[in-house]
Amino acid sequence: MIAGAGAMGMSAGYELSRRGLKTLLIDAFDPPHAHGSHHGDTRLIRHVYSGGADYVKLALRADELWRELEDASGEKLLERTGVLNLFDSSAYSYEDRFQYSAELGVPFEELSAAQVQERWPAVRLPDSYRAMYEPEAGLLYSDKCVAAFRKLALQAGAKLLTDTFVTRIEPASSIVAVHTDKGEYVAGSVIVSAGAWFRTLEPFVRLPIRAVRKVVGWFEPETNAYDADRFPGFTFGDGTGGYYGFPSVGGAGVKIGRHDGGRDWKPGEELAPFGAYPEDEADLRQALNAFLPGAAGKLLRGSVCKYEHTPDEHFIIDKHPGHPNVLLAGGFSGHGFKFSSVVGELLANQIELGRWGQDIGRFSAARFS
Ligand SMILES: Cc1cc2nc3c(=O)[nH]c(=O)nc-3n(C[C@H](O)[C@H](O)[C@H](O)COP(=O)(O)OP(=O)(O)OC[C@H]3O[C@@H](n4cnc5c(N)ncnc54)[C@H](O)[C@@H]3O)c2cc1C
Repeated sequence: MIAGAGAMGMSAGYELSRRGLKTLLIDAFDPPHAHGSHHGDTRLIRHVYSGGADYVKLALRADELWRELEDASGEKLLERTGVLNLFDSSAYSYEDRFQYSAELGVPFEELSAAQVQERWPAVRLPDSYRAMYEPEAGLLYSDKCVAAFRKLALQAGAKLLTDTFVTRIEPASSIVAVHTDKGEYVAGSVIVSAGAWFRTLEPFVRLPIRAVRKVVGWFEPETNAYDADRFPGFTFGDGTGGYYGFPSVGGAGVKIGRHDGGRDWKPGEELAPFGAYPEDEADLRQALNAFLPGAAGKLLRGSVCKYEHTPDEHFIIDKHPGHPNVLLAGGFSGHGFKFSSVVGELLANQIELGRWGQDIGRFSAARFS
């Protein structure tokens, strides 16, 4: 049984059901939906990753699984636009990740500011900046990915309860009872993948996850130089904040978000809409003005979403400390979507085979005790 069928839960539901395991998914909404962390059309997928070779290996396996999901669903889910990472080389270095990513065979290029401007004249860069360009990186259509997991999971025999809120989880020897606002269900194992709502399951699950309100905006570019067929996804820092974004896909506008900052959110609280705070638009616009000035046109659309931060911003994927037939997958800290395909596989491995299939010790919940 899966409590929380968003990016991670729906992926796990797909993996379990296609292995022939009886699977019940329960979600408080009707996924994909706009109340959690997976909506807003697109998510970046990159393979050259900070945090060590483990992440790169996971990203590469995730990529393989995304391709398989595209084949199985017949949906276009991944767009290899490339991703351009801009950084101030006087303050920041990518050297560590270059080394282990190259050893794992990930293609990337290191570029000077002048080389970036020659290839993408729509980028403005101070001379001290350099870039790392990943040609095989790109974007995932996140809502469509969750919809594809759902469709295939149901086709494989999984059951999904939508608009059903898990209120309590109660293990008893070899089974686990899951109480919801619509009734009670029992299973041999339960995955808890509750995104921004983990706190509602305390004291049974107590994880140091802080949910944060995040905004993204779509801006009208003044030329077609930012279209997805000629402009990559991007990340950059300007010394005061870190930003990421997407080329204009199908005329939707250049999408940009700020990775750091944001206001705390607690389950049950109203989530203020985009524009409720002056910085919602102002932060994004000033970042575009500095690096992608031709993209800082009219605000076409804004959206609000949630990050779930752990204290070290690494994930939690582990067994419940007191109940090994309850698995926990949370705290994806604003960078988890690209991994959701492989997180589903890890969780399904643990339930079906009793092992994760990859060394994921770094994601243990015990590191916070
Ligand atoms: C603005 C923004 C931009 C991002 N950009 C990127 C990016 O570029 N690349 C990237 O890799 N990642 C990115 N992320 C992060 C990524 O989207 C998240 O890490 C990922 O979606 C987390 O998945 P999840 O399954 O934990 O949460 P969710 O997808 O939110 O799923 C949790 C589910 O649990 C359900 N639920 C919760 N509590 C209960 C309950 N008690 N009962 C029943 N159901 C419950 C919810 O309804 C929800 O469907 C971004 C996130 C945001 C917000």
